[in-house]
Amino acid sequence: NKSELQQHDREHLLHPFTDFSDLGKQGTRVITNADGAYISDIDGHRMLDGMSGLWCCNLGYSRNEIADAVYEQLRTLPFYNSFFQCTTVPSIQLADALAEVTPAHMNNVFFTGSGSEANDTNLRLIRRYWDLKEQPEKRIVISRKNGYHGSTIAGASLGGMSGMHKQFQALDYIEHIQQPYWFGEGGDMSPEEFGIHAARCLDEKIQELGPEKVAAFIAEPIQGAGGVIIPPETYWPEVKKVLDQYDILLVMDEVIFGFGRTGEWFGADYYGMKPDLMTFAKAVTNGYFPLGGTMVGDRVAEVIKSRGGEFTHGYTYSAHPAACMAGLATINILRNENIIENVRDVTGPYLAKRWAELAEHPIVGEARSLGMVGALELVKDKGSRARFDDDCTAGGVCRDMSIKNGLVMRATGDTMIIAPPLIITTEQVDELVEKARRALDDTAKAMA
Ligand code: PLP
Repeated sequence: NKSELQQHDREHLLHPFTDFSDLGKQGTRVITNADGAYISDIDGHRMLDGMSGLWCCNLGYSRNEIADAVYEQLRTLPFYNSFFQCTTVPSIQLADALAEVTPAHMNNVFFTGSGSEANDTNLRLIRRYWDLKEQPEKRIVISRKNGYHGSTIAGASLGGMSGMHKQFQALDYIEHIQQPYWFGEGGDMSPEEFGIHAARCLDEKIQELGPEKVAAFIAEPIQGAGGVIIPPETYWPEVKKVLDQYDILLVMDEVIFGFGRTGEWFGADYYGMKPDLMTFAKAVTNGYFPLGGTMVGDRVAEVIKSRGGEFTHGYTYSAHPAACMAGLATINILRNENIIENVRDVTGPYLAKRWAELAEHPIVGEARSLGMVGALELVKDKGSRARFDDDCTAGGVCRDMSIKNGLVMRATGDTMIIAPPLIITTEQVDELVEKARRALDDTAKAMA
C-alpha cells in the first residue's frame, strides 16, 4: 500500500534534486499509470501532464509502437556495443534518420546514454577539433548563467546554476555570461534592446579572454530548466553576428527543444542558427528508453574523421540497439503524423492565445509561451514585479495547488513552467489553462 511504499522509498531511495528532509514531511507521490497526455498516482488522482514527464514524452504515454520496437529488438539482439569497429543495424538506421531530420550540415552523430554524457562528449570533441587544427590554446568554453547542461561534473560546470557549482570544484576553463532573461534582468531596456545587450555580453567576454583562447560557446536555444527563458527576437541573430566574427564553435543544447517543442524539429531551425555540435536526449525516444547524443556538423566531422588517431572516448551504452529502435519508432511517428507541423500551425498558436490570458491574473507578472512551452512569473506586485518573498514560497505553493487541481506544472523559483506533450488537442489546451488559472487563484488565497 501507499504508506508502506513511501516508507521503503524513504529508507532506500536517494532521489535526484531532492531535499531528503522534505520527503519525511510530505511523502513521495507514487505515480503508477499513464495514458495519452495524463498520469495517475496510486490514489487514482489523474493529472494532465503539463511537463511531458521530464520534458521527454513529447508523444505522450500511449505509443505502443515504441514499446514494441524495443521489445522486438531485445529479443533479436538485446545488446551489442559500438566500440572497436563494431556496429548494429538499428544504430546505422537511427544515424541515417537523425541526419535527415537535423539541419542539413549535421551528418554525423555520436551516441551516448544521456544528455549529460552528450555534453561531456562535446567537451572532448571541441578539444580534439582544436588540437587537430593545431590551435591547442583554444581551450575556454563560454556558457550562460542559469543554463542547464546536465549533472555530470562537465555538465554541471557548463551549466550556470550556482547551487550546483557549490558542491564541487567546477571545471576552470568554463566561463559564464549573462542569460537573456528580460523579465528578471532587463531593467529599463525594451526586450529588443535587452536581446542585443545580452548577446553583446558574449562579445565582451570573448574580447576579455582573447578570441584565440575561446574554443566554443554553448547554449540552449531557450533556457528550459532555468525557467523557460525565451530570448528576445534580437538575441540569436546578434549572437550569430558575434560568432561569425571570431573562429569559435557553436554548441546548441537541444535536449529539451529538440524533436518538435518549438514547432520546428530543433530550436536551431526555429532561430535559423547553424550549430557545429547539437546535444540531444529525452524526446529522441519519447522517454521510453535512455538515449542521448550529439550531432556533429560537417566542419568538425571532417577534421576529426580525416586526421588519424583514436578518439579515446565512449560509453558502454553508446548506440544501445534497443534505444536506437525506440528512437527510430519515435522519429517515424513524428514524421508520419505531422505532429511538429500541428504544433507550429494549430496547437502552438492556440496555446499562445490562451496562455496569454493568464497575464491578466493578479499574481502573474508575465505569461510567455512559444510552441509547446510556457512560463508564468508569479509576483506580489505587478507594477514593480516584486516577488512574494526571497524563498520563492509562491512557486512551491502553486506547484502543489496545480497538482491538486489535476495539472502537473513545475516551479523554478517563482516561475511556473509547462511543456505539455506535443500531442495535446486544443480542448486539452483549454483544460490546461483552466486548471492553471484555478491553481493561481488558490495560490493567491494561500499567499494573502
Ligand atoms: N541539457 C539540457 C538542456 C537539459 O535540460 C538536460 C536535462 O534536463 C540535460 C542536458 C541533461 O540530460 P540528462 O538528464 O539526460 O543527463
